[in-house]
Amino acid sequence: MNFHILTLFPEMVENGLNTSIIGRAVNAGLLSIDAVNIRDYAFNKHQSVDDYPYGGGAGMLMQAEPVYLACEAVMQKIGGKRPRVVYLSPQGNVFDQKMAQEMALEEDLVLLCGHYEGIDERVLEEIVTDYVSIGDYVLTGGELPAMVMVDAISRLVPGVLHNDVSAEFESFQDNLLEYPQYSRPEEWHGKKVPPVLLSGHHANIEKWRREQSIIRTYERRPDLLEKSSLTDKEKKWFRQWLKENED
Ligand code: SAM
Repeated sequence: MNFHILTLFPEMVENGLNTSIIGRAVNAGLLSIDAVNIRDYAFNKHQSVDDYPYGGGAGMLMQAEPVYLACEAVMQKIGGKRPRVVYLSPQGNVFDQKMAQEMALEEDLVLLCGHYEGIDERVLEEIVTDYVSIGDYVLTGGELPAMVMVDAISRLVPGVLHNDVSAEFESFQDNLLEYPQYSRPEEWHGKKVPPVLLSGHHANIEKWRREQSIIRTYERRPDLLEKSSLTDKEKKWFRQWLKENED
C-alpha cells in the first residue's frame, strides 16, 4: 500500500514513521510512505504558502494553488490514477477501526495535512474525497492525525504484523474490547495470572477471553457493547453475570 502525505513538514512524518513495525514494513516493501513538501509547489520566490483569510480573522490560511499542484504531482507520479484524497480536519468523520479496515484495501491513499487555520476551501472542494478527524479536539496541524491513520491502516495490511492473527483478535473486532493479557512472571506484586490461562485448555481459555471482553466492554465502552453481536448463549451468560455483579 502506498501513502502519499501532503504536508508543510515532511521531516515530521518521515521521522515519525520510520521506526519499529511501520519502518520495517517500509523496508520490506510492503508499504511506501512518500512525504510531499507542499512548499516545493509554492508559486512565489519566497516559497510562502499561506496568506491572510478574506474577511479578516485570526491566523493564516494555506493557499489553494500549492496544495493543488502538490496533489496533481502525486497523481502524475502514480500514472494518472485518482486515489482517495483524505483531508485531515477536526470537521471530518471521526476515524475508527472500521474506517481503517476499509482504507487498508486501497492501493494508494493521499493524506492532506492542513496547518495554521486550515486550507482555502476552493481547493478542498476540487480534490478532497474524504474528510477525517481523529477526535473532537483541535491540533496545530494534520501531521499527527496523518501518522495516526498511517499506523492504524498499515498494521491491517497483510504481512505488516508478523503474526496476522494478532490483528484479528483485538479491540473493536465485533465491537468488543480486547480481554486482559498477562505475561511472565505468574505472580507479580501479589497478583496471580488467572488460573485458566495456565490450564492449557484451549476451549476454556477462548471462553474466558470472550467473557472478559464482554465485561470489559460493558465497563469501559457500553456504547460499543450495544452494537456487538453476542450469541444467545453469551447474552444469557451476561444477564446472569450482571445479576451477580450489579448492586
Ligand atoms: N480552523 C480549523 C477549524 O476550526 O476547523 C482548525 C485548523 S487546525 C488549527 C490546523 C490543521 O490541523 C487542520 O487544517 C487539520 O489538518 C489539522 N487538525 C487539527 N485538529 C485535527 C483533528 N482533530 N483531526 C484531524 N486533523 C486535525
